[in-house]
Amino acid sequence: MIILEGKKTANDIKGEIAIEVAALVNAGGKKPHLAAILVGVDGASETYVSAKVKACEKVGFDSTLVRFNNEVTEEELLTEIDKINNNDAIDGLIVQLPLPKHINEMKVTEMISPTKDVDGFHPVNIGRMALNLPTYLPATPAGILELLERYQVETSGKHCVVIGRSHIVGSPMSILMARNTNPGNCTVTLTHSRTQNLKEITKTADILIVALGKVEFVTADMVKKGVCIIDVGITRVKSDKTKSGWKLLGDVDFGSVKKMCSFITPVPGGVGPMTIAMLLKNTLMSAKRVIY
Ligand code: NAP
Repeated sequence: MIILEGKKTANDIKGEIAIEVAALVNAGGKKPHLAAILVGVDGASETYVSAKVKACEKVGFDSTLVRFNNEVTEEELLTEIDKINNNDAIDGLIVQLPLPKHINEMKVTEMISPTKDVDGFHPVNIGRMALNLPTYLPATPAGILELLERYQVETSGKHCVVIGRSHIVGSPMSILMARNTNPGNCTVTLTHSRTQNLKEITKTADILIVALGKVEFVTADMVKKGVCIIDVGITRVKSDKTKSGWKLLGDVDFGSVKKMCSFITPVPGGVGPMTIAMLLKNTLMSAKRVIY
């Protein structure tokens, strides 16, 4: 069994990006610049955004964090996005989700210029992904592809089962694994809360990508021997054993399942760090005008 070490791989990628940034700056170019908008004071969102800002510093990017309180109106938020869209100094823009209920997330996503949409959530970029055109891939699925590629996990002709059909993970993942690319060329089954006989389906998976947000949902009896498991889930649970008072758990019961696996990602230290590395990669691509 091989652990797909997202943390180490993400650090390798950050090192590669830092070298490219230094070369850009030495050639007289400007540093790539990522802007993040954070609404409210949700603990998890705060953690994710500060990790992204820290990662920018690590690779030599500039970053801007724009904060709004929970009462911000949709119009104020859209106006800020428009301002950043038109600011030539900024290459990438992300709005940390979830947003308060009175704000329409799709409207916000659509307001971000596709050219600066380094999260890869804009319908234009999702469409380009589906058509296998150059684009910013959504960061979490892109991170999973990168892990599969760097660990040379064979995907062609395999049965890939995805649990969860969110717009940011499950759905794009299913499209990417079915494309005629490497990694890709899988026969894909996309499952969700209405799927019947889930266990019968997961037991046929060569590659199982789990993104439903339910702690330790996948157990050893749900998988076949030799499976490659990608655990996307991150849930904070209270813990009296950590200094912070909480710990992170995945959607897979790692302890029981690992003995069945050829490859498996840990939580934490698996998909999470890869997501941030891919966000940086997309921002670098934007700064270099690779796609648009
Ligand atoms: P989400 O929007 O919360 O959607 C969950 C999906 O799981 C839905 O499609 C839902 O089906 C499906 N589901 C729920 N219960 C199920 C069941 N019993 N059997 C089969 N499917 C079921 O998902 P998300 O935003 O993708 O997040 C999923 C998890 O990944 C969360 O823990 C999140 O924190 C984590 N995450 C991690 C990263 C990272 O960087 N590592 C990035 C994003 C998300 P329906 O559509 O039918 O409701």
